[in-house]
Amino acid sequence: MAIKLSKSLDKTPVTALHGVGQAFAEKLHKLGIRSVQDVLFHLPIRYTDRTRITPIGALQPFSDIVIEGEIRATDIVFGKRRSLMCKVQDNTGTITLRFFHFSAAQRNNLATGQRIRCYGEVRRGSSGLEIYHPEYQLLKEAQPPALENSLTAIYPATEGLTQQRMRSLANQGLALITSHNLQELLPEQLAPQSGFSLADALRYLHQPPANAPLDKLAAGEHPTQQRLAFEELLTHHLSLLQLRQRVQSFGTTPLAIPRQLHQQFLQSLGFTLTNAQQQVFEEIRSDLTKPQPMLRLVQGDVGSGKTVVAALAALAAVGSGKQAAIMAPTEILAEQHRNSFENWLKPLGIRIAWLTGKLKGKGREAQLAAIADGSAALVVGTHALFQDDVQFHDLGLIVIDEQHRFGVHQRLALREKGQREKGSGEKGGGQHPHQLVMTATPIPRTLAMSAYADLDCSVIDELPPGRTPVETVAIANNRRQQIIDRVRKGCSEKRQAYWVCTLVEESDVLEAQAAKATADELQLLLPELSIGLIHGRLKAKEKEQVMAAFKTGEIDLLVATTVIEVGVDVPNASLMVIENPERLGLAQLHQLRGRVGRGSAASYCVLLYSPPLSNNGVERLKIMRETNDGFRIAEKDLQLRGPGEVLGTRQTGEISLRIADLQRDAHLITDVRRSAQQLLAQHPELAEQLIARWLPGAERYGSV
Ligand code: ADP
Ligand code: MG
Repeated sequence: MAIKLSKSLDKTPVTALHGVGQAFAEKLHKLGIRSVQDVLFHLPIRYTDRTRITPIGALQPFSDIVIEGEIRATDIVFGKRRSLMCKVQDNTGTITLRFFHFSAAQRNNLATGQRIRCYGEVRRGSSGLEIYHPEYQLLKEAQPPALENSLTAIYPATEGLTQQRMRSLANQGLALITSHNLQELLPEQLAPQSGFSLADALRYLHQPPANAPLDKLAAGEHPTQQRLAFEELLTHHLSLLQLRQRVQSFGTTPLAIPRQLHQQFLQSLGFTLTNAQQQVFEEIRSDLTKPQPMLRLVQGDVGSGKTVVAALAALAAVGSGKQAAIMAPTEILAEQHRNSFENWLKPLGIRIAWLTGKLKGKGREAQLAAIADGSAALVVGTHALFQDDVQFHDLGLIVIDEQHRFGVHQRLALREKGQREKGSGEKGGGQHPHQLVMTATPIPRTLAMSAYADLDCSVIDELPPGRTPVETVAIANNRRQQIIDRVRKGCSEKRQAYWVCTLVEESDVLEAQAAKATADELQLLLPELSIGLIHGRLKAKEKEQVMAAFKTGEIDLLVATTVIEVGVDVPNASLMVIENPERLGLAQLHQLRGRVGRGSAASYCVLLYSPPLSNNGVERLKIMRETNDGFRIAEKDLQLRGPGEVLGTRQTGEISLRIADLQRDAHLITDVRRSAQQLLAQHPELAEQLIARWLPGAERYGSV
């Protein structure tokens, strides 16, 4: 095997390896493997130990082992499924090999008296311990083949690719590594698990020594794995920081709120800002006065008052003669923001445009015109705001209310949008609007530090005064009647209530039907109450009417789908029933529950679950009962559901890490952050190379 290499391994196609033709290469492409370096970075998911033979008498179910013995009998058995059973014996015991697919030749080869070595997983079968479809070798008495001297890698399974082939590729790849073609990119002082170079780590992980700690490897905690995870996390971080640098290299217009406008606004609010709100706004204000675009994330618990902070930022844009755009993730929330902003800013003479996907025809054209000629200083809407036909006159600030649904890529698309507007606008190119991102519920710290590394972070860590913590109980739905009585009692005391219906599937239609059925049922049982219904299928006008009626108290009980998760603010509502809460994630439950506890009355949230609950379900309801603290709930959510779900990026494959795990490797993040800054400052060329290694092509954040 003498492959000549002139190029580095990332530039060497897999077809350079022996036995890789076009067809095979195409299968590998499906796994994202194009170069020899990709082969090396395609790591095993687990290992089996083929370095020693286990006595048959010592076998345990579920273990992956090697045995050696003599065939005592081979028979076809006609049970539920026809199978070939082959009894193998050594001097400690016997075990049965079972084949459901076999050829006549195979049957003949497995002849009584023949010596055999088998690899496979032991399980309990109908004849005692069995191995299904083992890999095996028939042994010639004279020279039993050597055993492996390293652990055997098991790679992520893919159709048409056998483990043997994957091992052979890795083997060839490892043999090709030299210090030139697989460069060490981490400066020594930055590598936390020194002692392992990149090449060492890859060798170890493809072919661990016989005594390697399998438990550590299985948990992803081995120093070699941590070495790679660190490099990968560092690279993602670098990519985001680079992006930040790029954005900040653009100029922007500094924004400031004229003093009088600021005063007027604060006076019209009807409340004073909390210290936390003031503090966070100071941070924003200081960003806005700079000639580089602000890139800031504001986190705060449900009800901590993020909207008013956004309004202040918008006021700075408007007061400086620029436009501000506020983007919400859902129609209802956009609607809510429009209401808030109209209440607050219309009296100050500020015109607000409104744009959602549902707005069509003349109405849409009128809004588009107001946005384009600048007569609307503020624009509120959904992601429809950033469709191609929307032309801003002079966009100075983008506020994104995230609800965990816009990811990095979308944020980037928006920045580009702002830039494009400016670039094509009369005032010349090369500018980015300021950007403020708000999350609906807190994000665990380590996640925020990695997924939002391009943003500065502010936290509103205080609720407005006068809120009473919501008391939460979990009740099985066989006590539904009791809860209905409770609703009756609450409403007879002039309090209002929500009844939230949830569905397993995300279907507007089914969800609306379920909510309608529940509303009808409750109306029968509670004839004296005025019951309203709101769901995502209603027209905007209808939603508005229902919400208005609930706000004024005309409606006692509002039956709703999870559309009210956000954007509903009725302080007199003090009871919320959530049906099948086990179907929802913690962040969503917390967000829902945040709709009550907004007034001074004691508030309750009833989690009306369907038993039996999974362990995970039990855990989730327990944490909801225990705490109202969104930051604690976020940490628990991360623990129970993993980072992809918590960030809401699983579907979009947003952060696709190959080796690192944002949760398991959270302890690396502080180091990663520090190292990333250092590296970018001292060795920008290494940053480039790392990014090319780990984030080739489209995955790169900057390339949106
Ligand atoms: P969230 O942070 O969940 O987006 P909102 O911005 O919707 O919260 O605020 C929740 C409610 O609290 C709104 O009715 C808002 O007007 C009110 N609010 C915000 N700040 C204060 C404050 N400092 N004092 C009293 N009420 C406030
Ligand atoms: Mg909000």
